[in-house]
Amino acid sequence: MVLRSVLRAKPHLRACLTRCRHCGIFFLTHPRNAHRHDLRCPFGCREAHRKRASARRSAAYYGDAEGKRIKSKLNERRPRKYCAPEPPSDRPRPPGRRRRVRWNPLLVEYVRMVASLIEGRRVSRRQVLRMLARKLRQHTLCRRRRMDQTVAWLHEEPP
Ligand SMILES: [Zn+2]
Repeated sequence: MVLRSVLRAKPHLRACLTRCRHCGIFFLTHPRNAHRHDLRCPFGCREAHRKRASARRSAAYYGDAEGKRIKSKLNERRPRKYCAPEPPSDRPRPPGRRRRVRWNPLLVEYVRMVASLIEGRRVSRRQVLRMLARKLRQHTLCRRRRMDQTVAWLHEEPP
């Protein structure tokens, strides 16, 4: 596990190790949250909880009678028209343009924080994005190489 080797190399980060109270995954947290064990992981649980909490707040607000009146007013005002589904984001791009990948901002922030902790200096978001793009390119290259091998193999020994 990567986290374990990181902790072996940087034992002072041990205090930052915590476990998601929701899914139980281990992750590193910011030193200001060291020794806390009531946190949710940045891999989805934190955001899901935030959404649930905001849905609850909104339900509580619109729950009472006055709220119901406001809500139906709001619904009346909203034009009832057909909303076309969002076009898929992976439609063909003009050739020559580099594919831009959207990373989950929470994950980018997590990687940035952990990288900063490990390096002992401030790592910027931009550096993290560059690093992620590099990693992704390597992965694509590896995949392509495997694909080439498979194709070559199919030519030699057709099924
Ligand atoms: Zn979790």
